[in-house]
Amino acid sequence: MSNYSIGIDLGGTKILIGLVDRQSGQVLHSVKKKNKKEKGIENISRKMLSGINELLEESDVNLSDIQSIGVAAAGQIDRENGIILGAPNLDCFDFNIKELLEGEYKLPVYLANDVEAATLGELKFGAGRGCDDLVCVFVGTGVGSCIVKDGRIIRGATGTAGELGHIIVDLNGRPCGCGAHGCLEAYASRSAIEKRIEGALKKGRHSLILDYLEEGKSITSSMIRKSIERGDELVTSCVDEASEYLSGGLASVINLINPKLIILGGGLIEAVDYFYQKTIKEAKLKCLPVPATKIEFRKTALGDFSGVIGAAYLG
Ligand SMILES: [Zn+2]
Repeated sequence: MSNYSIGIDLGGTKILIGLVDRQSGQVLHSVKKKNKKEKGIENISRKMLSGINELLEESDVNLSDIQSIGVAAAGQIDRENGIILGAPNLDCFDFNIKELLEGEYKLPVYLANDVEAATLGELKFGAGRGCDDLVCVFVGTGVGSCIVKDGRIIRGATGTAGELGHIIVDLNGRPCGCGAHGCLEAYASRSAIEKRIEGALKKGRHSLILDYLEEGKSITSSMIRKSIERGDELVTSCVDEASEYLSGGLASVINLINPKLIILGGGLIEAVDYFYQKTIKEAKLKCLPVPATKIEFRKTALGDFSGVIGAAYLG
């Protein structure tokens, strides 16, 4: 009887690999490897394999005790064939993960989008436990989401459903990385907030965030939190603006899908409670009155491990 699965969260800055107890959903042991976008497929392959081997050695578990390996990756994927089609954040294109890992370990290997895997983790063992009708929204570099209806993940005709970040909120608006204009993530993501703050600083506006910013380093969610706590006007106004847009996006989700629960996660939500509280309050005011009576909001409960745990249950 195989009691464990290995879950891998493949991100632009780190590769997180966990040994997951299939009964409890607990991560019994984990290995973290640094990743650099520009290093590409070969680097990722090497780090994944050495990470899995370390995990097995350190946790004293045999391959025969492992049921499957699941991989969560940010980007467009071919779920059926286990291929990362295009992941700009990982600099991976046409990367056959299934072939690599099945060849090495002779175990079933599954691949999913990172937002989907994190949602599966939260649904089974996190903030979504006991609820079968929800939407998970992650706010970070972009804005990603995943819809769960009757306990099942809704993927759509091409497996790309849930692209909340690319609903258009301003027809003549800011350019988005996808090529369109006025997408929600150009207004409500952490990167959008960073750009607004940096733009204002370049124009000579003063901000307490300068106390934390080092030359050549980018703005982090915790710098944003500290600046707001100290009452910084510029950072607070940029976060307020992002919250205005995100709450509008969430109100649209509530009106369109009528879920029972919206789970919010990602670095900005976890670090900046002011942003979370303001956004959920405004989303309730902006959506239609009837769905507003039933909607509930929660933060993700599994933190960094939601993708690893979700990946372990793919298949
Ligand atoms: Zn877009």
